[in-house]
Amino acid sequence: MNLYRILPQISQILDREDIKKLIDKYGLKLVSESVKESVGYIRGMISSNAGEVEVRKEIENLAFRINEKIRIKKSMNLRRLINAGGVILHTNLGRSLLPEEACESISSILNNYSNLEFDLDKGERGTRYSHVEEKLIRLCNAEAALVVNNNAAAVMLILDTLAKGKEVITSRGELIEIGGSFRIPDVCKRSGAVLCEVGCTNKTHLSDYEEAISENTAAILKVHTSNYKVVGFHESVSSRELLELKNKYGLVLIEDLGSGILLNLEDYGLTHEPTVLEAISDGVDVVSFSGDKLLGGPQAGIIVGKKEYIDKMKKNQLLRALRVDKMTVAALEAVLNIYLYNDNYVESIPTLKMITEDKSEVKKRAEALYEKLINKKDIEISIEESNAEVGGGSLPYRFIESYAVSISFIDKNLQKVEKKLRLLDIPIIARISKEKIIFDLRTVSQEEIPELAEGINKVLEDL
Ligand SMILES: *Cc1c(COP(=O)(O)O)cnc(C)c1O
Repeated sequence: MNLYRILPQISQILDREDIKKLIDKYGLKLVSESVKESVGYIRGMISSNAGEVEVRKEIENLAFRINEKIRIKKSMNLRRLINAGGVILHTNLGRSLLPEEACESISSILNNYSNLEFDLDKGERGTRYSHVEEKLIRLCNAEAALVVNNNAAAVMLILDTLAKGKEVITSRGELIEIGGSFRIPDVCKRSGAVLCEVGCTNKTHLSDYEEAISENTAAILKVHTSNYKVVGFHESVSSRELLELKNKYGLVLIEDLGSGILLNLEDYGLTHEPTVLEAISDGVDVVSFSGDKLLGGPQAGIIVGKKEYIDKMKKNQLLRALRVDKMTVAALEAVLNIYLYNDNYVESIPTLKMITEDKSEVKKRAEALYEKLINKKDIEISIEESNAEVGGGSLPYRFIESYAVSISFIDKNLQKVEKKLRLLDIPIIARISKEKIIFDLRTVSQEEIPELAEGINKVLEDL
């Protein structure tokens, strides 16, 4: 029998009572698209020799399949997930979580007009940068500030403005690559600056810089090697030491700080990360850093430093292409307000809170999760000490003591379990270590624990 002949016409299907109900609920466009796809699927079944009973059943159950298709179509591809991997600043997982205040600030301007580029006092055109400039100046003790799309864009704008067609001296030990596509030498090339490499991978001396200076030199660029560490026989030249050279030869001293933190991490028992204030007080002319790394704000590239240089950047045509969106301005202003006015800003900024939280608090969440998990034959669940990481190219190889719930299985493919966790409606990101699946609670909030437990239990039940 030619099974294609039992396939109803699309119009007939759309006339079915069960399908009409779907049209009432979701509209004709979505349903008819799904009907066509489902019919295509049945055609595929027939062409791969499915039997009549099977095909008839599929036709009968069309509404079910279509419902499922619609659910998938309407679900967002970009969505929230639970990060139980223990990496606080994970570029693939969206880096910093914004503070509540920043979310409210974004939300209030989303479907309302705003004074984004309007000076309310003067009743005339303003700039989008004005909302954050004064606040950045105060926080970083700098003369001027500017914000662009991300730190890669910031470095590009700085070099394009101050060193196009000229030489920029950088140590070979600082020619880094960040997450795939941001490479200092390539960014230089793109901006039209000519990179002049000095020193060796492990050692660069002040004299290396001085010998490289010519009349074509415009700037010295320091790059914070935020994502790797040279240990052993190693030496680099600090910005403070470079200050003298810069003054003697009339150069601009630029520092790409990468993570750009405002507070001193040593106060929390972590390794020192250079702060923005330190760079400015060391006499660096132009400093750039990310908004969504250790600052804990939205994706942005923040530039602070001498007014004469930042004024030039404001006039650069390139700025128009790199400019920040109003959502970024709203979120960043709210985050800066927290730094300026909250007594306990470490508590209010999720990134800083996760980095500095006492591990006894993390342990409490591990216990709460443990209590909620079902026990099953052939699996072993326990609470154990773990190592979380700051991530985002910050503090390389420095772990933060943490607590995790671990699950080990007899005869189960861990990769498969990990994949099932990833494919849940609210995906769960875990890590595999020593034949166990590890759920690190440092990056999981108290509020997420019921959902996390529900997701894990669902996967355990389906094993
Ligand atoms: C992360 C980083 C960048 C890139 O910053 P984005 O905000 O991701 O564009 C550039 N330089 C350094 C040193 C970094 O650590």
